[in-house]
Amino acid sequence: MTPVRVLAVASEVYPIVKTGGLADVAGALPIALKAHGVEMRTLMPGYPDVMRLLSGADEIRRWPDYFGGPGRLLAGSHDGLDLFVLDVPHLYARPGNPYVTAEGVDWPDNGLRFAALSRVAADIGHGLVAAFVPDVVHAHDWQAGLAPAYLHYDGTTRPGTVMTIHNMAYQGKFDRALTGAIGLPPDASFDVHGLEYFGGISFLKAGLQLADRITTVSPTYAREIQSDEGGMGLGGLLRERANVLSGILNGIDIEVWNPQTDPHIAYRFGAQDLTFRSANKAVLQQQFNLDSSDEAPLLGVISRLSWQKGLDLLLEAIPTILDQGMQLALLGSGDRDLQDRYQAAARANPGRIGVMIGYDEILAHLIQAGSDALLVPSRFEPCGLTQLCALRYGAVPIVSRVGGLEDTIVDSGEAGQNATGFKFGPVTADAFASTLRKANAAFHDKPTWRRLQLSGLATDVSWRNRAGEYAALYRSLMASRRG
Ligand code: ADP
Repeated sequence: MTPVRVLAVASEVYPIVKTGGLADVAGALPIALKAHGVEMRTLMPGYPDVMRLLSGADEIRRWPDYFGGPGRLLAGSHDGLDLFVLDVPHLYARPGNPYVTAEGVDWPDNGLRFAALSRVAADIGHGLVAAFVPDVVHAHDWQAGLAPAYLHYDGTTRPGTVMTIHNMAYQGKFDRALTGAIGLPPDASFDVHGLEYFGGISFLKAGLQLADRITTVSPTYAREIQSDEGGMGLGGLLRERANVLSGILNGIDIEVWNPQTDPHIAYRFGAQDLTFRSANKAVLQQQFNLDSSDEAPLLGVISRLSWQKGLDLLLEAIPTILDQGMQLALLGSGDRDLQDRYQAAARANPGRIGVMIGYDEILAHLIQAGSDALLVPSRFEPCGLTQLCALRYGAVPIVSRVGGLEDTIVDSGEAGQNATGFKFGPVTADAFASTLRKANAAFHDKPTWRRLQLSGLATDVSWRNRAGEYAALYRSLMASRRG
């Protein structure tokens, strides 16, 4: 196995900083890749939490003026992850969410903040750190999208580049006036094969245009983003580059998500003792002020509250949930309007609808362990992680037929013995409600439900094989560049 060195570039990495699935991937993939002969180090910004957790990191470079203020590059490790940290206080020393102010609006200098990250990624690609000269630079999402662009426009020998899309909806669009300030050739902002994007520039577009390979997080999403609708403006570019685009499913960390050892759940269990789930269900019902009943199917949701996640459709399906004698426990945060509407639904239906607004990793584990089914009614879903955790915890996923949900769940109607859940499409409130009714009938047929749960538990949701696909991609890229 040829050893491979990869520099990953990510704006969030679990367990250090996380706002969504990108962090999970960036945190798990380097560890899973070790078994495949890939040495991965990850470059991330020095947000306050990062600086706190990596206080012992070594300074390997210092700049008096890096994008408008002093900056340093540090190398250190945390929880098995080897990291480079770009410590530039005037760009990153801000509390809270990495991308938005306390009022929830994008930081006005986000273009500069993430160009700085990509610039240093390219420099590491060129050999800035003698102890780690990567064969491949792997950029995640728009925040790292300029890394392939800098490497391209620098015009010298460079490593191979991979751009991964975790969500097409976030494209890093800025005014083209930024181009000169971030040290890219101004012409690039007018070049349709460069940064240019509908009269401005887009960091994601630049990465997709200029990286050697493009991946996204499921095969179905890889197809969907080549359409005008799914591509959200970039469908044409992706159709043109279809020969270098592929979908590799995400896995989950099966140590963190292990119902047999999980410290966050009330009762641990495995395939042999699924009945212990009822004890978790009872605790979950208590925590969400739901009526205590083992017979009422308990539906769980763990999600950002946004249009993407289809949670307005779930609000429309509440009458069905009530008619069918089901309960709902929802944990989420996001859109103010959805938060208000869910809280109102909980007030109107005490004992039946329970809602917690917020972000709570521990409660997320209990929901997986105690709910009978987990709902993911997304309008689009690049991969989705909560349905993978649900498979591992015996919560039967009920999902829309899009993106990675299509690829990871086997519908009860399709595959008899191997079915793991329920899928509905088109993504409408009616289709969702009728699938909830079908799931309710299956829940009351105990052998059927048990079979769904056991097939879910037997599904491989780990990173092992998926990491192997990334390793193969890096190697094939290196071989094609040598050849
Ligand atoms: P996305 O990245 O679009 O938000 P994913 O399903 O890919 O969706 O990943 C979401 C991740 O964040 C999962 O690990 C999920 O458990 C977690 N998560 C989402 N919302 C919450 C919440 N309110 N509390 C705890 N964990 C959450």
